[in-house]
Amino acid sequence: MPFRRLTNIPISLGSLLLLPTLLNAGGVVTHERAELVLRNGNIVTVDDNIGSVEALAVSGGRILALGNGKEIAPFIGDGTRIIELNGRLAIPGFIDSHSHFVGLGEALMTLDLMDVRNWQEVIDMVAEAVKHAEPGECIVGLGWHQEKWENPPHDAVDGFPSHWELSEVSPDNPVLLRHASGHASFANKRAMDESNLSGATENPPGGEILRDEAGNLTGIFRQNAQGLIRARTAFTQRERFERIDRAIDLAIEACLSNGISSFQDAGSPFPVIDRLAERAREGTLGVRLWVMIRTRIDEIDSHAAQYSKLRRIGNHHMTVGGIKFAIDGALGSRGAWLLDPYEDSPDEFGFNTTPLDTLERSAEIALRTGLQLSIHAIGDRGNRETLNLFERAFAHHDEKHGTEGAGRKLRWRIEHAQHLHPDDIPRFGELGIIASMQGIHCTSDGPWVYTRLGDERAESGAYVWRELMQSGAVVTNGTDAPVEKLDPIASFHASVTRQLDDGTYFFPEQRMSRMDALRSYTINGAYAAFEEDVKGTLTPGKLADIVVLSKDILTVPDEQILDVQVDMTIIGGQVLYNRNE
Ligand SMILES: [Zn+2]
Repeated sequence: MPFRRLTNIPISLGSLLLLPTLLNAGGVVTHERAELVLRNGNIVTVDDNIGSVEALAVSGGRILALGNGKEIAPFIGDGTRIIELNGRLAIPGFIDSHSHFVGLGEALMTLDLMDVRNWQEVIDMVAEAVKHAEPGECIVGLGWHQEKWENPPHDAVDGFPSHWELSEVSPDNPVLLRHASGHASFANKRAMDESNLSGATENPPGGEILRDEAGNLTGIFRQNAQGLIRARTAFTQRERFERIDRAIDLAIEACLSNGISSFQDAGSPFPVIDRLAERAREGTLGVRLWVMIRTRIDEIDSHAAQYSKLRRIGNHHMTVGGIKFAIDGALGSRGAWLLDPYEDSPDEFGFNTTPLDTLERSAEIALRTGLQLSIHAIGDRGNRETLNLFERAFAHHDEKHGTEGAGRKLRWRIEHAQHLHPDDIPRFGELGIIASMQGIHCTSDGPWVYTRLGDERAESGAYVWRELMQSGAVVTNGTDAPVEKLDPIASFHASVTRQLDDGTYFFPEQRMSRMDALRSYTINGAYAAFEEDVKGTLTPGKLADIVVLSKDILTVPDEQILDVQVDMTIIGGQVLYNRNE
């Protein structure tokens, strides 16, 4: 695996830590001027050799020196921006090790209508969305249900709203709002016009176009009639690219306001990767991406070698690092592949969603191209089969992987590693396999994990991150956004408390310590992407990716963790988000 190690080991002079290049031949410190200085803070470096310091200097987008205020003062020049931390906590930028970048942006482009209380709220939300949309851009919403509203719309037909008022606030944008049931959709006038629908349009077989007494279209399309307007959401190629770009912009914004400086994208097809690479080269990504390829195996086979060369482009803003496949589904829908039947459905074992021979082939491609293999595995059977497959591949390639437990060379990953058979837990550490987990999944899924697995299996194998860490595995953290909110504070809280919404705890003996949770969101994520030489700790020479928090997430009582806010996100020494500005 081609990656550069930092050869500059920081030099320590008393408590001051700095790059060796700052010492002249006589061992005297030459004070390069910093572009940015953070001072009077509690800077937790996550570097065990350094611990915490009060102040930090940045030059050329990298960490130049760390020490107390006095030691850092000589680096301050006329052009230095100074940030007074006033005792606040600064830590390495969060690394979300498993989320979906464009998916996150697209989710932010879809109006969530689940909690609206009346039709007027829907109209208001659409009006607001219109303000931010380009003319002609389709506005999509999801999840409305007229039965949940406080009162029916005044112009209701058959209990459903009519389009007139909504069409008035969105004259230039087609609007398509899917009903919570999925069995009906609502369209505005523009969407109906673009689909050439009028009062004269006939009902399709198995569908109904709802009309008022005068025969006018109301905007409601039931069952198969939805197909008449859905055509509109099949965007043209150009519209699709514009949409991807807007999704990228929204995802960047979400990352920055959440303190995420690095984002590991759990699977994009080549056209999306092309656009992300362009944005990285243009310098318009802000956040740093590490991307897994996700598409058909034949396509991966033909192009993976070429894409594997995209490493650290745009000044460390984008790397194509992995190949992603899923061996099974999710627990909620009983898709997770289990060794023993589901507790609440004794005939079901879940599914193997990608044939094992395809996964074998993906392992060969990974070995050939130097990409990491990342397999989504939720159930204990899915995890066992993946561990077996990885073990077989490693056994044939000692020269590539090495033979010594953790710290082996290939760093293949199991995404989620959610429910494990106890026998398989130590295998992660032994085989040097990354457990790419999501703290927040434990607490949001917890309530029905008992139902699906039963208490005994839930206890011995569900989200056992502490046991994995203790057995030598590298455990990373993330949110799987947009499945969950991107919020690292919420996932940190879940990781250290395992407290469910109802106040109970999901097998709290598996809690991470605060420091382990911080590692899972920083240095472990960097390691899982072969990036620990430039990220994950605040060490002289590494990229100056830093997040400043409103409160000390390492020491506040459990019940205050969720109140901690991201004050600043600094990437490459640039303040890209400031909550107070
Ligand atoms: Zn995912």
